[in-house]
Amino acid sequence: MSLRRIMTAAIAMLAALALAGAAALIILTTYLHRTTASMGSSVEGVRLAEALQVDLLSLYRLSDSLLRIPSDSPRSFAAIESNLRVHLTEARANAWSPQELALIDEAERTIANYLSARERVANLSTEQAARELVPPLEAALAALDQLVTFNVNEARTVQLQADRWDQIANIGGICVAALLVLGGGVLLWWLRRFVFRPLLDMSRAMRRFGAGRKRTRAPVAGPVELRDMARTFNDMANSLARQQEEQLTFLAGVAHDLRNPLSALKMSAALVTSGRPIPEERMQKTMALVRRQVARLDRMVGDLLDATRIEAGRFELSLEERDARELATAVVELYQAGGSSHDLRLQLPEEPVLLCCDATRVEQVLHNLVSNALKYSQGGSSVDVIVGYESEEAVLSVVDRGIGISSEELRMLFTPFRRTGPAREKAPGVGLGLSVARRIVEAHGGRIEVESRPGVGSTFRVRLPRARSAAQPAVASSPAETVH
Ligand code: ADP
Repeated sequence: MSLRRIMTAAIAMLAALALAGAAALIILTTYLHRTTASMGSSVEGVRLAEALQVDLLSLYRLSDSLLRIPSDSPRSFAAIESNLRVHLTEARANAWSPQELALIDEAERTIANYLSARERVANLSTEQAARELVPPLEAALAALDQLVTFNVNEARTVQLQADRWDQIANIGGICVAALLVLGGGVLLWWLRRFVFRPLLDMSRAMRRFGAGRKRTRAPVAGPVELRDMARTFNDMANSLARQQEEQLTFLAGVAHDLRNPLSALKMSAALVTSGRPIPEERMQKTMALVRRQVARLDRMVGDLLDATRIEAGRFELSLEERDARELATAVVELYQAGGSSHDLRLQLPEEPVLLCCDATRVEQVLHNLVSNALKYSQGGSSVDVIVGYESEEAVLSVVDRGIGISSEELRMLFTPFRRTGPAREKAPGVGLGLSVARRIVEAHGGRIEVESRPGVGSTFRVRLPRARSAAQPAVASSPAETVH
């Protein structure tokens, strides 16, 4: 599982919970506001209905014993009547429901009845006036009572609803809080178990590795990102261990390869300084041996130095225009003069094959290829060094009929310190020459190709760009003459 996905899901879950909580809070406050408003309206309704009752009763009180309007108080009477109208208008404006409006209509109608009855009874006897006035007054007071009861009931209903919502809000709040605490707890537990622990294990493994325990590897556990990190660290640790192993093998190889020429030199020096007379022929042989061993040591040290310079990125070429035929001839002649037991042959074209190259380095490449061809083939077998060209490329080939190289080993041939199995038994070497040769050829803008079959032989082909002045239009291959 990926850390990014888990964190996104956890954050989304917590955000959804927080959003749900916030939405519930908004709904609740809106509802509470409506409840308070409706409670306020019910209370106001009760107040107005009671004010109307008070107005009616005040009107009744202002009447004389004959229930007529006293001549000295027409002003208060008119004020009460106007109060009645104002209170009725206010009650209508305050009403929320159609039932309440119907009750107000009824109250208004009964009040109007009562007021018109008052005007009608002006000329009637007291008993008749009382008979006419009391029933509409009672009807108006009863209608106002109904209005009061309705508003009181409304207020009670609203209060009950508010209580229910209060309970719901409490339960909802507790649930959201519990879910948040649970979600946070699960997230923390998961982070501890699947993120922090693997992270701590990995940092412990890194510290151990840094402290020198090279076999330590980080456990591959936890989310994808951490597993990737652990794998990368392990790959790096494996590669470092491999490099260390290769360096040790290399040092062992170098020490081993230095030992052979050194012991040959030691023996030769002991012979020369023994003080005994040495026959001329023996002396010549010893000197030739010393020369060969010194040349071998020189080549080994040269290869080591070149490999170090290449690795450090300090490899420079001093370019000049040279004929590839001259370079190949110089190398072949050197080996022929050294008394090689092989049949070393040189094939050259008639016309020059000009290269813009570092002559010493190209000779070094040819030296390496020729010496390998001699090393890894039977004495007496033939080795061909062929110079030719194809289009804009010079082609220098070294062909032997030796032990050959298997196709699996061909892939690793130019890797530093790689030596094939049969070669290790057949001849000493550190496995640096070919990798250095390839770097030199590539630095000239060329490449090395190999064709080989085990038990049949190998062909190494160096392709280098020809100098511009010499490059000729496409010629398939060059004529060659053979020099023994
Ligand atoms: P060295 O010869 O010192 O071991 P090189 O880099 O020159 O190092 O060669 C690397 C390896 O390639 C050799 O050890 C050998 O196994 C193989 N090799 C090179 N040239 C030949 C060849 N002509 N025939 C067979 N094997 C070869």
